[in-house]
Amino acid sequence: MMETKYAILTEKHIDRKIIKEAGKILQKGGLVAFPTETVYGLGGDALQRESSRKIYAAKGRPSDNPLIVHICRWKAVKKIAGKIPQEAEKLAENFWPGPLTMILEKSEAVPLETTGGLQTVAVRMPENKIALALIAAAGGYVAAPSANLSGKPSPTLAEHVREDLDGKIDMILDGGAVGIGLESTIVDLTENSPVILRPGYITKEMLETVLGMEVAVDAALVDSNAKQAPKAPGMKYRHYAPRGELTIVTGEAAHVTDAICRLSRKKRLEGEKVGVICTDETKMFYEADCVVSAGEKTDTEEIARHLYAILRQFDSVGITCIYSEAFSGRGIGQAVMNRLLKAAGHHVVEV
Ligand code: AMP
Ligand code: MG
Repeated sequence: MMETKYAILTEKHIDRKIIKEAGKILQKGGLVAFPTETVYGLGGDALQRESSRKIYAAKGRPSDNPLIVHICRWKAVKKIAGKIPQEAEKLAENFWPGPLTMILEKSEAVPLETTGGLQTVAVRMPENKIALALIAAAGGYVAAPSANLSGKPSPTLAEHVREDLDGKIDMILDGGAVGIGLESTIVDLTENSPVILRPGYITKEMLETVLGMEVAVDAALVDSNAKQAPKAPGMKYRHYAPRGELTIVTGEAAHVTDAICRLSRKKRLEGEKVGVICTDETKMFYEADCVVSAGEKTDTEEIARHLYAILRQFDSVGITCIYSEAFSGRGIGQAVMNRLLKAAGHHVVEV
């Protein structure tokens, strides 16, 4: 165990002294957790093998699951990517800084430890100003997966990072609640045409509009029985998992509420501690040990922001059985349903 330093920062008035100290820790090969607009990241110097090894160890993450390299200026791509396709420039112009990760061929500068043994590298320029300042102070290349223990929901508050990694990393920068709440969209630009490996805030339609061409979605994301493994190694693990067994209930709204009420009653009689994830519109219908609304039914951005904190809340009060309504799959709703399905191990009941 080590002592984990803790500092509170705001994007509006960034404390340069703290950023300098955190940047030094990264340069010396240490680990610093920091806020981004998607989720909290666990940062290490992307160009030092030893830092990446430490990240895997702290998270308990399988070392074949590559890390995303975070940069703070476009020029940095040239050092870590072997080839930069035109699509990458177009996407960067439109979506960086922002919640989009691009997969490119890697250059010699990036150690295989950072890319989980792959010859490709994942790159993103985050929008959060604390993140950008930290990356600059660290020398420009920060490998950062989500700052949770492997298998737990990604952290959307510094408190979640503390729960998982206190005593295992050098420092936590607390920049408050994140804005989006789900991990970045990942798009692979190393094939003949772009492929989405992980859905996120930046949707397929947004990418297609900018690129003027069709963007495919990795088959393994669409079909849980697909023979091919997902191309983003991380997507094959049962990620984002709460301790309680999660079931998603889909169907006509009234039937869904009825079914969840019936199922919760039955499980509670069997001695289970039941949690329900619902919307503002349906919250009043439920009776369970913990009933939480993720937001207004049509506000998928609000639902995205709250999802992981709700799963963690259920863990902290010992919920053993969870029922969730299915949410709209439009816009970021697609990413919400992708994460929820993974958290549920694709356990869905249709009513
Ligand atoms: P996290 O930073 O925790 O959101 O995890 C990073 C995600 O990016 C994981 O799902 C990885 O599998 C994926 N990823 C990172 N690098 C690559 C790469 N070179 N090719 C494909 N997927 C990648
Ligand atoms: Mg993660």
